[in-house]
Amino acid sequence: MTAISRCPACGGTHLSQLYRLEAIPVQSCVLLDSSAEARDFPRRPLQLMFCDGCGFVFNALFDLAMVDYASTTEESQHFSGTFNRFARDLVAEIASLYALRGKQTLEIGCGKGDFLQELVRQTGAFALGVDPGFIPERLPGAHGQDIAFQREYFTPATIATPPDFIVCRHTLEHIPEVGRFLSEIGSVIGGRKDVGVFFETPDVRRVLAEGAFWDIYYEHCSYFTLGSHARLFRRAGLDVTRLYLAYDDQYIIQYAEPAAGRPPLAAEDDLDAVRALAAAFPAKVAQVRAHWTDFVRSRHAAGKRVAIWGGGSKGVSFLTTNGLGPEVAQVIDINPFKQGKYLPGTGHQVSSPDSLTDAPPDTVIVMNPIYLPEIGAQLAGMGLSPELVAV
Ligand SMILES: [Zn+2]
Repeated sequence: MTAISRCPACGGTHLSQLYRLEAIPVQSCVLLDSSAEARDFPRRPLQLMFCDGCGFVFNALFDLAMVDYASTTEESQHFSGTFNRFARDLVAEIASLYALRGKQTLEIGCGKGDFLQELVRQTGAFALGVDPGFIPERLPGAHGQDIAFQREYFTPATIATPPDFIVCRHTLEHIPEVGRFLSEIGSVIGGRKDVGVFFETPDVRRVLAEGAFWDIYYEHCSYFTLGSHARLFRRAGLDVTRLYLAYDDQYIIQYAEPAAGRPPLAAEDDLDAVRALAAAFPAKVAQVRAHWTDFVRSRHAAGKRVAIWGGGSKGVSFLTTNGLGPEVAQVIDINPFKQGKYLPGTGHQVSSPDSLTDAPPDTVIVMNPIYLPEIGAQLAGMGLSPELVAV
């Protein structure tokens, strides 16, 4: 396919290549029923480009048709206590900033609806969730009403009630045409001034700085820093009113409102720093890839059992980016819906933590450092004390 030649965020043409992979699984959250099906899962190339004009990073070879979000995916992180506390605290922050009782809230990309349910519980808002991957079930809402869901991709045409508050978490990174998406949000706002917008999106600045290749995978076609995120919204006629990093600085939290001439926030001013990180990234990521490949291969060669904790996108990217396979003995995940299923690319079967008792690992690599305390405690509770490291 033809590579995208203009920045989807700002339309700029001063683009440079940051990173290229020739064949990665087109979905990394998909659950597969057999190892053979998992190994044969479709692969496509990825070419990350950096826009010098706005700092946006995107996969110029992304093909949305390859990703089926209505298929059996399991993106919910709501099995982790750490993530649940984070989500509850975010809802409490939203509730402290916006009086949403009786107001209409729209969540774009609501997943299984857990966050919207918590928002409604804490604020008394009415709510509509839109997501092609929503599994129809009735979730309790406010005032004796249920939360409404539409199992489809977001489009302004099907939003019957204009929302007073818009939530969009971990969705923007899946959207290739981010400029167009923001104009669709603008048409749902429809010129009203009294509307709040809340976005939560992974931060790419840390990925660039750390060479964190496991955070780069096919479904994520769009990558933002605080500044490029805010610039996208300002171009769409929104003021950014609150902007910070959360969750161990992994996620961008951004509030916005229809423009009223507010000045840019200090956190938005990152373009020069990000240009420098982008220039250094090709060498950095090559070094980090070599480190982890050697880390795993040397332990395997010494007869040690290496396990990966985290059977989600990061784990799939960690394995497939460097062509690791039998060197990793086990992949562990606490999400019961993943257990027994197979990872696209390598075909590893995902096991429950309990399985480690039967085959104790020598090394456990945790795919997200924020879960280290939680996982360390769980291993200790099982009487296991392997070498425990996080990417
Ligand atoms: Zn741009």
